[in-house]
Amino acid sequence: MGSTIFSKIIAGEIPCRKAYEDDRVLAFHDIKPQAPLHVLIIPKIEIPTMDDVAPNQESLVGHMVWVAAEIARREGVAKDGYRLVFNCRDNGGQEVYHIHLHLLGGRQMAWPPG
Ligand code: AMP
Repeated sequence: MGSTIFSKIIAGEIPCRKAYEDDRVLAFHDIKPQAPLHVLIIPKIEIPTMDDVAPNQESLVGHMVWVAAEIARREGVAKDGYRLVFNCRDNGGQEVYHIHLHLLGGRQMAWPPG
């Protein structure tokens, strides 16, 4: 552990505004929010990209999706709707190489994304 800024957040070395935590995942508010609600859900183990998810890690990724939906309900954006995004590598716009699920809500989203 320790190769990205998200590992340092998990280790408590860098502060975050926590939205949810359990034994498998941590969720915190994005430092540069792109919507009124912008939360990142990350696994506590280090997986660089979605391309690196192993078959035995599919339940972990499913748990990340469930946690995102739970946070959306708790934060009051579930009824109006929201967007969930995984960026993968350069073309996907990934900046931090520790997989994370973006939860974006509180405004109308555009399609297609940029
Ligand atoms: P991505 O482009 O999908 O890799 O997204 C990385 C996200 O991490 C961006 O939305 C950043 O604003 C966010 N981010 C980077 N550093 C921090 C931090 N220290 N705390 C919270 N969010 C961060």
